[in-house]
Amino acid sequence: MSADPNCIFCKIVAGQIPARKVYEDEYILAFHDIAPWAPVHILLVPKLHIVSMAQLQPEHEALMGRMSVLVPRLMQELGVSNGFRTVINTGADGGQEVMHLHMHALGGPRPWSKG
Ligand code: ADP
Repeated sequence: MSADPNCIFCKIVAGQIPARKVYEDEYILAFHDIAPWAPVHILLVPKLHIVSMAQLQPEHEALMGRMSVLVPRLMQELGVSNGFRTVINTGADGGQEVMHLHMHALGGPRPWSKG
């Protein structure tokens, strides 16, 4: 599905609701999490509406690789220099609340609110 009209991250991708964007290309959007757990907390989302990692197909390999390679660059640009954590929650038991695949990237001096 290219976009889900009821999906909050599709609305952010479409510019229908605001977000503090940090990066955008043809395939990926990155923006600050609205309720950060760490001093720097961004989300990277595919522009395509993919519900979760459970829906990934072979044609998404390049997209997910692109996302992984992008994270260290964005964290460095945001001043994170002492390591970071990446999290992808998948499905109900994985703690996923927004059903549009997203990678959390967390950094900055500890302690953090979660973990
Ligand atoms: P959890 O909330 O348990 O971390 P997810 O992995 O689905 O579950 O994460 C969804 C994330 O999306 C949360 O960190 C939440 O703060 C963030 N979020 C929800 N709505 C927005 C929004 N409009 N702009 C930015 N971040 C958002």
